[in-house]
Amino acid sequence: MTSETAGGDRFGAFGGRYVPETLIPALDELEAAFAAAWADPAFHVELDSALRHYVGRPSPLSDAPRLSALVGAPVWLKREDLNHTGAHKINNAMAQAILAKRMGKQRIIAETGAGQHGVATATVCARLGLSCVVYMGEEDMRRQSLNVFRMKLLGATVVPVTTGTRTLKDATSEAIREWVTTCDHSHYIIGSVVGPAPYPRMVRDFQAVIGREAREQMLERAGRLPKSVVACVGGGSNAMGIFHAFVPDAGVELIGVEAAGHGLDSDQHSASLTKGRPGVLHGALSYLLQDAHGQVHPAHSISAGLDYPGVGPEHAFFKDSGRASYVSVTDDVALAAFSRFSQLEGIIPALETAHAAAWIMANAGRWAADEPVLLCVSGRGDKDVAQVAEMGIFTA
Ligand SMILES: *Cc1c(COP(=O)(O)O)cnc(C)c1O
Repeated sequence: MTSETAGGDRFGAFGGRYVPETLIPALDELEAAFAAAWADPAFHVELDSALRHYVGRPSPLSDAPRLSALVGAPVWLKREDLNHTGAHKINNAMAQAILAKRMGKQRIIAETGAGQHGVATATVCARLGLSCVVYMGEEDMRRQSLNVFRMKLLGATVVPVTTGTRTLKDATSEAIREWVTTCDHSHYIIGSVVGPAPYPRMVRDFQAVIGREAREQMLERAGRLPKSVVACVGGGSNAMGIFHAFVPDAGVELIGVEAAGHGLDSDQHSASLTKGRPGVLHGALSYLLQDAHGQVHPAHSISAGLDYPGVGPEHAFFKDSGRASYVSVTDDVALAAFSRFSQLEGIIPALETAHAAAWIMANAGRWAADEPVLLCVSGRGDKDVAQVAEMGIFTA
């Protein structure tokens, strides 16, 4: 029941290509270029070298003694926070930028919400000498002005998006619209396992390095596979990245943690899998937050990286097939875990990661003392410190 058996551009019923006719040749070209690159040892030599010597891979697997004592089972941390630019996003951005260069495309388009994917993309474009245009909602630009400055510092152009709620959903729509007219010389680097085929599968394959390393590291350090693999889910790329290598391991439970915002019964959350219904957004069929008329319902989360009304189609497939389970954690509970995790392990996690950590802490006693739990630390929390400090709830 791996996703491969779903075949083609679908994961079960989910995925597909719901795009304007004019984009189909560009998606076909990308799919062929990706397949050719993946089969070419020279591509892997270049990518592996960039991941090793520039991004800083392999990322460590840390033990977490104090968190483990609290949970009653050994918790292991896959440290994507230690990558260059501070999160897992650069794994995908670097790989797609190398692919774009192979395709002869010198111009990169990207969307960004909080700015993390925009910064990762601006970074790899600087490194590879590609021009970079990042679409960002005006509201997000206001909330994340430091990341706007970082992108500009790295040489990118940041284009404000003023439609809709002026956030990530609108920035993505605008980036896709722009790509339609420039795809002959531009490549669109999407930031998660979302979008029309081949993006969800390609981004998964580029993020799968997380789980490949972690699986090997678990066997070496813990002497066995984890009982549970836990990761936060926004669009779903860090989760799919760490899940993928474990999908064939029937004894390994895969758990995705969504943002419950102000609560699942409020209409202010980002729990697309838990509370959404199948619908089309950004070129793919997947679970989606929508109102009674099928209009996209705006998402909410304290964590900008989880604040997205859709989710990758392979997660929709895993939910329906039962291969993965999806749970959720509210803003308040994630915020408490943000400080608790920092104080237990000396690692300030991204607010996104804090959701996954919170779910593990809330489930202390669920695992036997010899059942390891593997947590994907998707990013570092330095980007969130100012936001949390302003709330004035912790006296540091
Ligand atoms: C963007 C981001 C996420 C959410 O994106 P996914 O595609 O669901 O992984 C999670 N954690 C961090 C640190 C991020 O920057």
